[in-house]
Amino acid sequence: EPILVMQDVRKTYRTGGFLGRGGRVTHAVRGVTLMLPKGATLGIVGESGSGKSTLARCLVRLVPPDGGSVALDGLDLASLTRRQMRREAHRIQMVFQDPYGSLNPRRRAGELVAQGPMIHGTPRVEAMRRAKALFELVGLDPASTERFPHEFSGGQRQRIGLARALALEPEVLVADEPVSALDVSVQAQVLRLLAELRERLGLSLVFITHDLRVAAQVCDLVAVMKDGEVVEHGPIARVFEAP
Ligand code: ADP
Ligand code: ADP
Repeated sequence: EPILVMQDVRKTYRTGGFLGRGGRVTHAVRGVTLMLPKGATLGIVGESGSGKSTLARCLVRLVPPDGGSVALDGLDLASLTRRQMRREAHRIQMVFQDPYGSLNPRRRAGELVAQGPMIHGTPRVEAMRRAKALFELVGLDPASTERFPHEFSGGQRQRIGLARALALEPEVLVADEPVSALDVSVQAQVLRLLAELRERLGLSLVFITHDLRVAAQVCDLVAVMKDGEVVEHGPIARVFEAP
């Protein structure tokens, strides 16, 4: 039974131009229909520029899609009011390629993790306690919640990014190239952690990567994107078997 259903998702970017004239139009995502079964990992693979990131952003509504629908456990996210969306948004969270870019350098790591729950009304003391527990869960020293993002290695920062995403207890995690910025040895650790967390927390995962070896390691299902469209999809063994 699917936890996430994408139906004919579309996104077009218009850049430059004036009053709708001139400029450039990019059909970044052109009608993607895919589903993610509960507990599974769906890989989205494809070359740079094929629309993977845009699709990922549409799923968490960082980018509003301009067509189609995304349903989370039967709930069409586009049909929600802003207020309803604020209530449901925690159920689908994103992990970024370069967590440094998304971690405010002036905030302590623990605060960055506690931020989401605090916005949702969790008292500060309780949110900080939860941040420490999350640090342990992702393999970081709970005492390091007092440190700033630049005091962590790349792999550790990715763990902070994960803790931050997990803080709101999501059902679906959308990871956009979560290991691409890391050394190969560190990549393996983070991938193992992701697989472990998926099992332990019963997460369903959308995993964006340009790296087919990484996809083969972590995904059950895979969709290949090209020029904004899915050109092939299915169980990983079938899609990746030599033609
Ligand atoms: P990737 O290929 O790894 O997704 P890019 O370097 O293409 O990364 O894009 C980095 C960021 O710049 C993304 O947030 C993306 O949405 C944005 N971006 C990409 N292409 C354009 C563009 N033509 N105009 C404006 N922003 C863009
Ligand atoms: P991928 O993640 O597969 O590298 P993207 O979704 O980043 O692909 O980009 C798909 C297409 O959309 C590319 O042509 C890119 O330049 C363009 N694009 C991405 N983000 C933006 C943006 N914010 N503004 C304009 N064009 C963008």
